Amino acid sequence: NELSPLNPSAAGTWLGVMGGGQLGRMFAHAAQQMGFKVAVLEPAFDCPAGHAADQLHSADYTDVEALTKLASQCAAVTTEFENVSAKSLAFLAESTFVAPSASCVSIAQDRMAEKRFFIECAITSGVFPASHKEINSAADIDAVPDDLLPGILKTVRMGYDGKGQVRVKTRAELHAAYGGMDGVACVLEKMLPLAYEISVLAARGADGKAVVYPIAENVHRDGILFTTTVPGPNIGKKSAEKAQAATLAVIEQMGYVGVLCIEFFVLTDGSLVVNEMAPRPHNSGHYTIDACVTSQFAQQARAMARLPLGDVRQHSAAAMLNILGDIWFAGDSDEAREPAWDQVLALPGANLHLYGKDTARRARKMGHITFVAATVAEAQANLRQACAILG
Ligand code: ADP
Ligand code: MG
Repeated sequence: NELSPLNPSAAGTWLGVMGGGQLGRMFAHAAQQMGFKVAVLEPAFDCPAGHAADQLHSADYTDVEALTKLASQCAAVTTEFENVSAKSLAFLAESTFVAPSASCVSIAQDRMAEKRFFIECAITSGVFPASHKEINSAADIDAVPDDLLPGILKTVRMGYDGKGQVRVKTRAELHAAYGGMDGVACVLEKMLPLAYEISVLAARGADGKAVVYPIAENVHRDGILFTTTVPGPNIGKKSAEKAQAATLAVIEQMGYVGVLCIEFFVLTDGSLVVNEMAPRPHNSGHYTIDACVTSQFAQQARAMARLPLGDVRQHSAAAMLNILGDIWFAGDSDEAREPAWDQVLALPGANLHLYGKDTARRARKMGHITFVAATVAEAQANLRQACAILG
């Protein structure tokens, strides 16, 4: 029975991951800690997850031979790369257990499908996405209602870290922005007055049992996550519960298996808007490694293995700082120098996670540091000190 629990202590129970980035690396660490062997499929030979995994299959994500190998080797396969071809996941699912499923991943890969799904769920959750309109032609732009401007034009597919987005004030700017999108499907969203941003991490097992983590508050810089603080210091109890319930509604209505993260906006009037979801562990959930009983990566391994999901309880307040390649470069200098890790690690509650990437580049995610403390204020104070040290 493919839905019976896997045995982590049996020699050679393999879990597979599509994607060789840092999410795959941290997944490998967690799954190996439980006794599983981990195989990664990723085109690059040198990749963060490849260094940690028991085996790396270097092949294209659509390579039938490599997919066949992975499926026969692994008792379950997941993805850490959001834009993996849904067809590849469906192909794997013909011969092994795949979580999350191709159909769930394909909803999250398409901003329009995602918004349609959120609207369906809003009937029970009461949390809607931003007003929006799909843009596939100049005529669509002429039909945009005035009140969607100013707005943000986003590509329907493949967007991440603020890429594939243009902010537009006027219809003329919208025409120009769409003209620069190479004819790909886009969506215009109304620009909303954000007070702050949160994300909610949840997981659901193959048995249908779901768990939800505390509210994480996120600060972005240049479209990339900069810090995550948990529990979110700004959100009230009612809104927190509403966002958690909305996340559970989505994960349940999708019949999702595995870890999922949903980003929300909290507007200046206090209302909640659902933004987007990631069908995988999320950067804003990295704090769970150091501050929760069960990390998002251990949770993913449990869900894949049809083992009971773990306790989501947060035992320490946490503030996570993303480490981008920028801190290797002083000012405008092109010459890389090593950050002062010794000084950062002298700060109370510091947990350093580096992803084993050899070359630092500006805007490249190199690692993160999670500060754990008795209070959020303390964790944040240590994070601010780290920022001062790292520059
Ligand atoms: P990505 O896939 O790049 O994370 P998002 O849809 O999350 O794309 O947008 C990136 C950031 O842009 C958000 O975190 C938020 O700060 C801002 N943003 C996105 N959509 C809106 C909107 N409708 N109104 C105001 N700000 C937005
Ligand atoms: Mg986002």
